Amino acid sequence: MRKIFATGVAVALLAAMAAAQTNSQATTDIYFIDTEGGMSTLIVSPTDGILGTKEVLLLDAGNLNPPGRDADRIVAAMKDAGVERVDTLVVSHYHGDHVGGVAALFDKVPVRRVLDPGAFVPEQHGNREAGYLSYVPVRQHAHVTIPKPAMKIPVAGLEVHVISSAGDLITAPLAGVRRAPNPLCATAQRRAQDNTPNNYESIGVLVEYGRFRFLDLADLTWNQELELACPSNLLGTVAVYRTSRHGTDWAGAQPLVHAVRPRVAVMNNNPTKGGTPGTFQIVKSSPGLEDFWQLHYSDNVAREVNSAEQFIANFTDRDGGHHIKLSARSDGSFTMTNGRNGFTKQYRPQNGAVTSSR
Ligand SMILES: [Zn+2]
Repeated sequence: MRKIFATGVAVALLAAMAAAQTNSQATTDIYFIDTEGGMSTLIVSPTDGILGTKEVLLLDAGNLNPPGRDADRIVAAMKDAGVERVDTLVVSHYHGDHVGGVAALFDKVPVRRVLDPGAFVPEQHGNREAGYLSYVPVRQHAHVTIPKPAMKIPVAGLEVHVISSAGDLITAPLAGVRRAPNPLCATAQRRAQDNTPNNYESIGVLVEYGRFRFLDLADLTWNQELELACPSNLLGTVAVYRTSRHGTDWAGAQPLVHAVRPRVAVMNNNPTKGGTPGTFQIVKSSPGLEDFWQLHYSDNVAREVNSAEQFIANFTDRDGGHHIKLSARSDGSFTMTNGRNGFTKQYRPQNGAVTSSR
């Protein structure tokens, strides 16, 4: 009897250990989808949600034109990830390179709820107005919430913090981040305000999965990044930073980038949009940076300034459409894969504090 009991306990223990083992190997998968200089980032939860399947958080849906192209690329990434539904779509702001693909996406997959920055006066300029106008009829029938900074977006197994929304920013450090002076602020320079005002409204998020942290501020501006980083860095450190505003000089402020100390940066540029000399200089000089991945080769800098070929997903807009995939584990380790050629690189577990400020 005792032996049977002991055996039963041993079996239960083994099962628990196996579950823990599986758990520590579960990944949250992030697809940086090529929208030719727009933005769309697909995040798949590490665990099942209340509907019994993985949950999907999609940050933006790329461009309006050509019709359906970027929505098709999102659907292709969803197929690769084995998911069929978007649980939460964040429309970071209403420029055509972010909101333009939303209506086409709604025609292709179910979308349960939408977060956007609320009221907007369309900017009377090209695709900025057209993208927004294509979204208006979709928005009327969607379940829309306007988030506030410091709110959390529910995604199974992840902590997703809203950092910015509708022009407001978090004003207190995230949980676990100590308020301490950021020495990089001493020489910080504000810049002329962005010439496309809606970027200022962008919804930006910080995603946490255990020791893995990912910062995506959409098209938030240089001066707002300074407010998040100065006089003290409110965000802590991150494993991965997606270059704000496509890697242009309107964003990517050094006191923020260097304070969050990304191990990897990912840029959603195209051959002529983003990827400026200033962005490369700031990102590549960031302490602790291991690699700079690019969705596109940048014609705005010399060949030797671009990253090595294996870290670039697309070389021209004719061979476009290749994503960059990231799979992160809760110990902070992650794997990145170039969708063009399958090149893969492993990044070691996170050592030391992830939320310490500087
Ligand atoms: Zn943009």
